Amino acid sequence: MRILLTNDDGIHAPGILALKTVLEGLGEVRVVAPERQRSASGHGMTLHKPLRITPTRLADGSEGFATSGTPTDCVILGLDVVWEGECDLVVSGINLGSNLGWDVTYSGTVSAAFEAAILNLPALAVSLALDRHVEGYKPDFGTAAQFTLSMAQKLLADPLPPHTFLNINVPAIPENEILGVAITHQGRREYVDRVATRQDPAGRPYYWQYGNLREYDPDAGSDVHAVLNRRISVTPIQLDLTAYNLMEQLRDWNL
Ligand code: MN
Repeated sequence: MRILLTNDDGIHAPGILALKTVLEGLGEVRVVAPERQRSASGHGMTLHKPLRITPTRLADGSEGFATSGTPTDCVILGLDVVWEGECDLVVSGINLGSNLGWDVTYSGTVSAAFEAAILNLPALAVSLALDRHVEGYKPDFGTAAQFTLSMAQKLLADPLPPHTFLNINVPAIPENEILGVAITHQGRREYVDRVATRQDPAGRPYYWQYGNLREYDPDAGSDVHAVLNRRISVTPIQLDLTAYNLMEQLRDWNL
């Protein structure tokens, strides 16, 4: 069993090491991840400049491969170069912060799983659903890592159709406060106050994107609703984004 492990928080982020430690119980794990923070890089791919792979020591002393590319680049380099085309499973995470609803389109973590699905490999994207910065809070990836191991075992025993993957979000609360697992659909996420304007020392404006979540009642059955209600969210995702219900209306346009 050959497992490719990546993320978008960078190769030295604690979430990826937590996952590596548990997945080693399942097979041989190779960590191929961005050399720096690449969150919200979406499904970006590097085409117009060379990429580098740098062997790196992880915090546990084991070997990893840091790349100069995006999470998507990491999946391609990991599969074609590091694993030389022989890989059974791709896992992306554990991201520090949720990847719920429409956020999956921004997410480098989820996009790595999209890339694996395109390459016809089974994949899991895993996130620790922590949305507020709490001073002094030390994230605990243990529950999410153990859950990912059990999901990887289920996925390998009962494979899903080609070009699909699972997006997993684990609430960042103590394990004994988690109320179970919900199979969910993608919910909604929108942001307000998205751009902060400041001035640089020369008096010129610069802009910092961040934003606060728009408050609304998430629909029951959605990933957002599950995590809010202390459940682990598992969303099956497919590559086909077609709005099938609009095709009939378009036909009436007499194109
Ligand atoms: Mn991230």
